[in-house]
Amino acid sequence: MNDALYKEAADKFKTWYGCEHTAAAYAPGRVEVLGNHTDYNEGFVLSAAINMGIFCLAAPSPDNTCRIVAGDLMKEASFDIDDASPDPDNMWANYVKGVFVGLRERCNIPTAFNLLFFSNVPLGSGLSSSAALEIGSGLCFCSLYDVEVPKLDMALIGQAAEHNYAGVMCGVMDQISSLYGKANQLVKSDFRSLEVENTPLGEDLCFLVCNTNAKHALVDGAYNERRQKCEEAAAFFAGVLDHPVTALRDVSMEEWTQHAPSMETYAAKRSAHVVGENTRVQQGSELLQKNDVAGFGQLMFDSHQSSIENFENSCEELDFIVGLARQIPGALGARLSGGGFGGSAVVLVHPRDVETVGQAISGPYEKQFGHPCDVRMITPSEGAHIVV
Ligand code: ADP
Ligand code: MG
Repeated sequence: MNDALYKEAADKFKTWYGCEHTAAAYAPGRVEVLGNHTDYNEGFVLSAAINMGIFCLAAPSPDNTCRIVAGDLMKEASFDIDDASPDPDNMWANYVKGVFVGLRERCNIPTAFNLLFFSNVPLGSGLSSSAALEIGSGLCFCSLYDVEVPKLDMALIGQAAEHNYAGVMCGVMDQISSLYGKANQLVKSDFRSLEVENTPLGEDLCFLVCNTNAKHALVDGAYNERRQKCEEAAAFFAGVLDHPVTALRDVSMEEWTQHAPSMETYAAKRSAHVVGENTRVQQGSELLQKNDVAGFGQLMFDSHQSSIENFENSCEELDFIVGLARQIPGALGARLSGGGFGGSAVVLVHPRDVETVGQAISGPYEKQFGHPCDVRMITPSEGAHIVV
């Protein structure tokens, strides 16, 4: 746990509210390691909770007003305990409000709260500061009101807050990763059954997450096209296979290879990526069980190649980073992480190589694009928990 961050949060709480907090929780951000665009196809993802997170601290409110303070800005948003509407003027506070409303719908929560959060997860860098905020505040409320909520339900409350209060139609991978993370382990999620297990990463490996700071136009249109083609492909396979297909999760690579020639070009390409990613997640967790790090790294490179050729959700900046990584001896694997079309690349490294690999990426990147990429060392870390 990041003790210095907690102490700073506690000091800020006291300064703002003039009393000590009585409840606190920690929740980390996350990184997607393998399994790209598989969640809405009811497939598999390997992800990790990261070593950066948020502390949410709270105490009962003396009146009916709920107060939320963003600790880095020392800015407050407030609402009446019975007001359940999203606040358009304080989008950042809506994540917490949405979680509070979601919890209140299922638990007895009679009194208002004073809350402050303080985070070291960079915002909008593909490390899911938003899920950390949702899960951190959710667990903080559990402590404050002395209620227990199963992990999966908490993840779904966080996701609902993101949908209904922040307007982001995300899957539930971010919240699950934050809750189920373990030190030196990956989180393997099944997005059909919502079963979650941990896979040891072994050999004390870590990641470099390289944020391209690139945003490309037409992302929404491209995203919708990908989803539509995945659905189209699933419908195609439902028609030709002799077992039930409700999502691309039900299609094997062999079945894809057999039927792809009679498919519409883009339905074939998009589904090749999803079916391939599901296969790679299964292979990848088996390789990690055998401690075959090189094999796992190769699957990360293969995943990126499939993004380039099949899903077409990469971009020049991401390809540049992964291309460099293929040449750097200490870079064991690399791929785009998250939606694509910009955002971050994730590189698998040994801790001893962090400096050299980081520099071998950031220097050439800046020379090529005229702006730096942020390179952060990420260790798979403990998941969210109540502190007090
Ligand atoms: P990501 O989750 O990838 O970091 P998002 O755009 O989904 O990016 O979430 C970022 C948003 O979450 C911010 O714009 C803000 O509204 C909210 N947020 C998360 N962490 C903080 C924080 N420490 N302070 C203020 N707002 C935060
Ligand atoms: Mg987010």
